[in-house]
Amino acid sequence: MRITVIGTGYVGLVSGACLAELGHQVTGLDVSQEKIDLLNQGVMPIYEPGLEEVVRRNVQAGRLAFTTDYATAVPGAEMISIAVGTPSADDGSVDLQYIDAAADMIGRYVTEYVVVADKSTVPVGTAERVEGLVRAASGVQVDVVSNPEFLREGHAVFDFLKPARIVIGSAAARATERMLRAYDFVDCPKIVMDRRSAELTKYAANAFLATKISFINEMAGLAEAVGADVENVARGIGSDPRIGKEFLRAGLGWGGSCFPKDVRAIRFLGNQLGVPLPIVNAAFDMNRQARLRLVDRLECALGTLQGKKIALLGLAFKGNTDDTRESAALDLIRFLRERGALIRVHDPVAKVHAHEVGGEVPHYEDPYETARGADAVVVATEWEQFRTLDLKKLKELVAGDLLVDARNLYDTNRVQEHGWRHLSVGRQ
Ligand code: NAD
Repeated sequence: MRITVIGTGYVGLVSGACLAELGHQVTGLDVSQEKIDLLNQGVMPIYEPGLEEVVRRNVQAGRLAFTTDYATAVPGAEMISIAVGTPSADDGSVDLQYIDAAADMIGRYVTEYVVVADKSTVPVGTAERVEGLVRAASGVQVDVVSNPEFLREGHAVFDFLKPARIVIGSAAARATERMLRAYDFVDCPKIVMDRRSAELTKYAANAFLATKISFINEMAGLAEAVGADVENVARGIGSDPRIGKEFLRAGLGWGGSCFPKDVRAIRFLGNQLGVPLPIVNAAFDMNRQARLRLVDRLECALGTLQGKKIALLGLAFKGNTDDTRESAALDLIRFLRERGALIRVHDPVAKVHAHEVGGEVPHYEDPYETARGADAVVVATEWEQFRTLDLKKLKELVAGDLLVDARNLYDTNRVQEHGWRHLSVGRQ
């Protein structure tokens, strides 16, 4: 099938490359000339394990190409997938300007029936909106389906090719049939429903997962107070199949490019429609509290944060990605600086920019150099490299003795063996 994917970010590039891997003829389109130039030189504009290989293989096989030109990418496509950003607007609603621009451009260049699939996470009713925009600009009959994406950054290629399910929200039988054909070689349940339910499914999924993390962080606070170990509690409840093991890691809470904006969006929807969403609201508040609680405990352990040198390891919102959007680590930097701490940072791939944290932060290439002379080391991202840090060597370099294990990566006995005080989450 001839498929065009609009947007070559985390979702668009991965889905385009993987659809080519499934045998389709794919064009990846982006408005960013810089991204398309990089892709045409074989350079990945994002860090995602395994992606470069899939892209290279399919470009070489002639199944995948990249362009900025709608005039070549739209006519003749049988399916057009929209995977542009849908950031939060200032009031918490979803900023649909990129969706609208893509719909308008499809409308300008479409010449025959095509199925347009909204892969971006979009508010309920957006499929109808996109359909209206495309038809208004073109006069051509198109069907718009909702096809939300559930991939995880850091595992995106695997998740796209081996998903738990594919959701297709459709109002037209021929559009459904075409979508099922596009995903024919993906072995998973294909759940077909109406478009509004499909759009809400994506928000409900992210709100539920965020709530699960907030719940275990709430339990972490209680565990600290009563002298229990939240990791044991998570194991104890997670082995119940009704609860499940995933998303029960206590730590700094959720961040990234999806959960915060999607939880904000569903909150906005509830407020707009006068439907109370107390659980979603509590999940949001708990997330901020999880970060502040850690900063309070760190301050308490050091006596004061004023003038204290803190080495922060990890900027990305989770391991295996360079994505720092709404990362807990950036919140930590802001909170710690507000209380007078002097921060320096290291991340294996992610970078921090001054405007994101209210000023310049020295960035080091090496975790040990970052820690030299520090009063405390804070591990803020669950990178595998951090799990295997030489804690003895690290201890010899620091001035203080406090290791803040904000993702519960280390065993307390092992940490203490090397002379550290171990401050972790939900544990003594
Ligand atoms: P991204 O910011 O990484 O990529 C979006 C891309 O779209 C950018 O390269 C941008 O230049 C391009 N773009 C913007 N307007 C365009 C236009 N009019 N025409 C062509 N290209 C245009 O975003 P992302 O992380 O890939 O997310 C895309 C969507 O998928 C969002 O709605 C997001 O919520 C959703 N989503 C993301 C993830 C994730 O893990 N990142 C997972 C599931 C769903």
